[in-house]
Amino acid sequence: KCHNELVRLKGNIRVFCRVRPIGLGELDEAKSMVTFDPDDDAVLTLSNKGKAMTFELDKVFPPEATQEEVFQEVQSLITSCIDGYNVCIFAYGQTGSGKTYTMEVVVQDNPGINQRALRLLFSEVSEKAPDWDFNITVSMVEIYNETLRNLLGDNPHEKLDIKMCPDGSGQLYVPGLTEVTVQSVEDINKVFDLGHMNRATACTNLNEHSSRSHALLIITVAGFNASTGHRTIGKLNLVDLAGSERIGKSGAEGSRLREAQCINKSLSALGDVIHALRSKQGHIPFRNSRLTYLLQDSLSGDSKTLMMVQISPLESNVSESVCSLKFAQRVR
Ligand code: ADP
Ligand code: MG
Repeated sequence: KCHNELVRLKGNIRVFCRVRPIGLGELDEAKSMVTFDPDDDAVLTLSNKGKAMTFELDKVFPPEATQEEVFQEVQSLITSCIDGYNVCIFAYGQTGSGKTYTMEVVVQDNPGINQRALRLLFSEVSEKAPDWDFNITVSMVEIYNETLRNLLGDNPHEKLDIKMCPDGSGQLYVPGLTEVTVQSVEDINKVFDLGHMNRATACTNLNEHSSRSHALLIITVAGFNASTGHRTIGKLNLVDLAGSERIGKSGAEGSRLREAQCINKSLSALGDVIHALRSKQGHIPFRNSRLTYLLQDSLSGDSKTLMMVQISPLESNVSESVCSLKFAQRVR
């Protein structure tokens, strides 16, 4: 209850920050540049070349925060799509800052938000039976160089377009996008495996490729109450964004340069859209990137957005961490 009150007061956009732990292979530079305020879990201080920079967010997760603890803070957002809300959760940050760890199943028994979200949705909708009947479907889309790819289709190379619904409603849709109904953890695992396989098929190095493309898991929750005739439809978009690092400022050319430009363009478009929504501007520039255009319906109106800004604590990453936190301040 308390939590929901807070959400309403602050509007529908929240910005969290998660600082990943120092890894085993990083012991040489083992000093963390990030400090936390024991009395305020919404601020963090970064030591940038001897200068302390303090940032205020809506919530900060220190390195020891577990997947479970992170999930607890996003649960209410996730279940709101059962009530018909559209929700977006983005993981933003440089490559290696923990975006995929937070969003995806990396370690089998310690899944990230995407698997936990589906499990929670299954259990919540089952409690609403038999009055309500729910259908949960998932789609997976990759956006690379401003092109959408259908990751659950039969053809891993299949490209998709975003179109305006011909019914004049102003709604957008993606013709040909594969939607798979899921009912169990086994279903989820099958879908994730297929998505990952398809994502890997069309590229030579999955790690590199995934840091340069956005991966979206789109979960649609449709409910029907047979006795009242009521229908609800809500969408949960879980987005593992491309790495925000500034790639090869001088050296990049050819395909690398184009990739960098596309990532830049879409991440700034996302920042611009959230900033415009937050500051209640009249014109929201959804059309400036495929990402914001695709998510238009899930970002506007009474939709809810969470930006999870991921930070590496290492000294060698400080300038990127500053950039990510500045992005966070801008959209907050
Ligand atoms: P990104 O997707 O932003 O490139 P990853 O999620 O792949 O980053 O994380 C980089 C590395 O750090 C991986 O080896 C990952 O397992 C590890 N890591 C990230 N966040 C955490 C965390 N909170 N706890 C433990 N290990 C983490
Ligand atoms: Mg990743």
